[in-house]
Amino acid sequence: MKTYDILIVGGGPIGLACGIEAEKAGLSYLILEKGALVNSLYNYPLNMTFFSTSDRLEIGDVPFMSINSKPTRIEALEYYRRVASKWNLPIKLFEEVRHITADGDLYTVTSNKESYLAKHVILATGFYDIPNRMHVPGEDLPKVTHYYKDPNFYAFQKVLVVGANNSAVDAAMETWRKGADVTMVIRGNEIGKRVKYWVKPDIENRIKEGSIKAYFDSSVAKISEKHVSINTPEGLVEIENDWVIAMTGYQPNLPFLKSLGIELSKDEIMKPRYDEESMETNLPNVYLAGVVCGGMNTHSLFIENSRVHAQQIVQSILEK
Ligand code: FAD
Repeated sequence: MKTYDILIVGGGPIGLACGIEAEKAGLSYLILEKGALVNSLYNYPLNMTFFSTSDRLEIGDVPFMSINSKPTRIEALEYYRRVASKWNLPIKLFEEVRHITADGDLYTVTSNKESYLAKHVILATGFYDIPNRMHVPGEDLPKVTHYYKDPNFYAFQKVLVVGANNSAVDAAMETWRKGADVTMVIRGNEIGKRVKYWVKPDIENRIKEGSIKAYFDSSVAKISEKHVSINTPEGLVEIENDWVIAMTGYQPNLPFLKSLGIELSKDEIMKPRYDEESMETNLPNVYLAGVVCGGMNTHSLFIENSRVHAQQIVQSILEK
C-alpha cells in the first residue's frame, strides 16, 4: 500500500488550502471528502452572500473575482472548483473517513471505501454537519429543518424562524419577501450583534413595523403538526404554524476527534488540544485546520482567518 506524506480529511476551503501547501512543498498527499467538493458551502442557503470580501476567501494564489465585493454561494462554488482544478488536487469525493489508527510511526486512515497509510494526518472537518438541537418535543417532525435552502418553498406559509444571527435573519427576510407569514423566536433581547451590517437595520425595521413578528427573551417549547408553543416573558403562547426553520447553529464532530484520542478542553467550549504555531494535536503528526479548531466556539474561526493554518502545518511538517 502506498504511504502518503499527508492524508487530509475534509475537502472544504481549508482542506483544499492544505492540499495546495503540500503540493507546493513537493509532498505526496490525498484529500478525502465525505460529500461533494466544498460540501458545507454546497449545502448553504441557495441565495447566501458571504460577509467576507472575495479576496479574503482566496487560496492557492488564485484570484477570486465576484460581481459584487461580497461573493455569493454560487460564485464561491465556482471559485473553489476552479482552484481544485487549477492545482489538480488529488481528491476523493463521497468518501467518509470513519477511523484513524496509529500503526507504529504511520497512521491507517479508513474510509467507507478504502484504507490508506499516511505519515501525517490533517483533520479539516469543519462544523456544518451537526446542528445544535433545541431539545423540544416535535423537533423531529418533517416540518422542522436545521438547513434552510430556498425561500420560494415557504411562499404563503406560516413560518417560525428560531435564532437571531445571520442565518436566521437571512431566512426570515427572504421568506417574508416571498410572502411567508414569519414569526421569529429569539433567545436574547435583540438581533445578533454579528448580523451583517447592511442587513441588521432591515430586519430591525421589519420587526418594528410589525411585518415580521418577533418574540424576544423567548424559546420554543413544543412543536406539533399545526402549531408551535413558545415560552415568552408573558407566558406560554401558541401560534399556528406550517414550517419551523431552526437556525440554532452547528457544531463540529467533537466525538469523532475524541474517539481518535484528541484531548478536548473540559469546559463547554470543548476546544481540541493543539499547538497554536504548528497546529499539531496531542497525537503526534495529527494536525487540525480550519473551523474545527475552535471547538464549540464556531464563530471564532472562518475561512478568512484560518486559511493560514495550511502554511503553518506544512511548515511544521517540513521542519521535522
Ligand atoms: P468546511 O467548509 O465545513 O469543510 C469541512 C469538510 O469536511 C466538509 O466538506 C465536510 O463534508 C468534510 N468532512 C467532515 N467530516 C468528514 C469525514 N469524516 N470524512 C471526510 N470528509 C469529512 N466564513 C468566512 O470566512 N467568510 C464568510 O463570509 C462566511 N460566511 C458564512 C456564511 C454561512 C451561512 C455559514 C454557515 C458560514 C460562513 N462562513 C464564512 C464560515 C465558513 O464557511 C466556514 O468557516 C468554512 O467553511 C470553514 O472551512 P473548513 O474547510 O474548515 O470547513
